Amino acid sequence: MTNPIQFDLHIGKEKPYSAKGAPCPFCRPESLTNILERRSDMIWLMNKYPVFRDTWPTVLVETSQHDSDISLYSPEKLHEVIAFGVEKWRETATRPEFRSVLYFRNFGPRAGGSQRHPHSQIIGLYHYDYRENIYPENFLGPLLHEDADCYVTLSDYPICCMAEFNVTLKKDGGTDRFADAVQTIARFVLRDFPIPCDSYNLFFYEIRGRIRVKVFPRYTASPLFMGYRITQVADGTSRQHMLDTLRSDRYFGG
Ligand SMILES: [Zn+2]
Repeated sequence: MTNPIQFDLHIGKEKPYSAKGAPCPFCRPESLTNILERRSDMIWLMNKYPVFRDTWPTVLVETSQHDSDISLYSPEKLHEVIAFGVEKWRETATRPEFRSVLYFRNFGPRAGGSQRHPHSQIIGLYHYDYRENIYPENFLGPLLHEDADCYVTLSDYPICCMAEFNVTLKKDGGTDRFADAVQTIARFVLRDFPIPCDSYNLFFYEIRGRIRVKVFPRYTASPLFMGYRITQVADGTSRQHMLDTLRSDRYFGG
């Protein structure tokens, strides 16, 4: 059993929450400190509120546009955001002091983020390897899209969510079409998911040298999972409907 990561509630209480009307710190880039790197209007910096103990927490502000999102980015913006994020994540992962490095993103009120402004997080973990909690089977399932750079599946054995979509970067694949696939799934989740869904997460994994990202629709978590770790998967008819919609010309078939 892996030990939990400590969450510092004292720091958590000080964080500004945009849903509570706090001014957005990422809309005032001149006030930001501990900046690691800038590229076009993107800023990679240390997280001012390091709530997770024994970690090296960073934030990647993806754009100067407060109300934008991956699901709304132009192709050029989308490609530069994912290329920058993957580059900095992998660079961080080569640092020997970390056992593993997280790269994830929240969107919407149910995704667990405190800021609306589009951003992702890259967090080095000194003592924790997230891969110990993840099985290769968590990415397996019917193929719904494939191109020269990536392929997309719907999980048969999800980690916890009843419809988890996986985008896998092929060996030597480029990140542009990988990013396009992520955007297509994010749009599907927000527009056509079988239950109304206004939130999603992206979680990136590097397992056995292969880069994958899960697109997680977020809604109120099931008590069966919260209390018993019983994973649920959508019924066969609903799964087929999602696959048919995603393969249609509204999404990957277009
Ligand atoms: Zn903002």
